[in-house]
Amino acid sequence: ASKISQVQEDQSIKVVVRVRPLLERELEGSPKCLVEVDKEQLITLTPDQSSAQARKYRDAQNFKFSKCLWSYDRRASTPFADQDTVFTEVGLDMLDNTINGFNSCVMAYGQTGSGKTFTMMGSKNERGLIPLVCESLFTKLKQQIDTKFEVKVSFIEIYQENVVDLLGTGEKLRVRENSNRVPFVENLSEYTVGSSQEIMELLAKGFDKRTTAETHLNKQSSRSHSILTVTVVQEQFDPDTNSFVKLKSNLKLVDLAGSEKFVASDGLEKIRQQEGSKINKSLVTLGRILTLLAESPKQRTVIPYRESILTWLLKDSIGGNSKTTMIACISPTDFDETLSTLRFATITS
Ligand code: ADP
Ligand code: MG
Repeated sequence: ASKISQVQEDQSIKVVVRVRPLLERELEGSPKCLVEVDKEQLITLTPDQSSAQARKYRDAQNFKFSKCLWSYDRRASTPFADQDTVFTEVGLDMLDNTINGFNSCVMAYGQTGSGKTFTMMGSKNERGLIPLVCESLFTKLKQQIDTKFEVKVSFIEIYQENVVDLLGTGEKLRVRENSNRVPFVENLSEYTVGSSQEIMELLAKGFDKRTTAETHLNKQSSRSHSILTVTVVQEQFDPDTNSFVKLKSNLKLVDLAGSEKFVASDGLEKIRQQEGSKINKSLVTLGRILTLLAESPKQRTVIPYRESILTWLLKDSIGGNSKTTMIACISPTDFDETLSTLRFATITS
């Protein structure tokens, strides 16, 4: 029996694993589903022939997280969790935090093709976390009595440690810190929105810009991180003082760059290596910071947020009083990358 890697329960950082189903094109070949999840949420990853690591890992590898999004009911037509389940398991919590005035962050981690964008954005018929969360946010805010609110959004991508405003002119922007040492992007476009529909329209524009920039720079979105920030300002009437109390919080929804190693076979090798190292810089720093936070949630350890642009911008959304959920997306057909993702997700090991 192999050793089980287990994440320690920590209140401020939660790791959820999502296994994506086999895709149609994968089913056409002779696909092997290398991932199994049992009733106790124990994940078993079985090495296969195509794995470069197969010789090193003959035994199945086991992992356990607080939650694995996969239905273990064998009678279910599909053992895989749908979008609503992801929303219920992850989104609702984050919504409560936001409405209660805490900063929150949800990020999708995993190799390209593992379902990060599907989880965050979804498709037209299977809407993902972002549309579902935004819709519920407005519903909940409107239900509150004696509360005025304002919702603002910004949308950026980080590519090679540069910040690009996806709702602005597309130029590179600088990150700075205000007098309270809260990081912000200088000259970033921010829009006040009145409905989730408006947010989705802005996002669509941002995605257009991303695609244009991509062809321009000869790059792929799988190599950049995108961050949607939803800022909520609430003013609650306090009858005792006969005045309004202001509550401000933000929710960051992050679609991380693909975590796979970028192996190039053509002349672009050098650029890609540099790219890879810069992307990895953000992901490696993120891993280090999550580890530090998990190890000493209450202690005053110095957390090196500023070591990468990604972690710097997430400074006020991970750690402290904020709540972070990392959705580790895995593909059931790739042993090596799945192993690496599950290892990364086991942030305390
Ligand atoms: P990533 O953003 O990690 O590169 P995508 O989200 O683009 O990966 O997913 C890759 C492919 O798999 C897409 O065609 C997507 O529609 C499909 N897919 C991913 N997750 C699921 C899922 N849970 N259910 C159905 N299809 C999925
Ligand atoms: Mg993607």
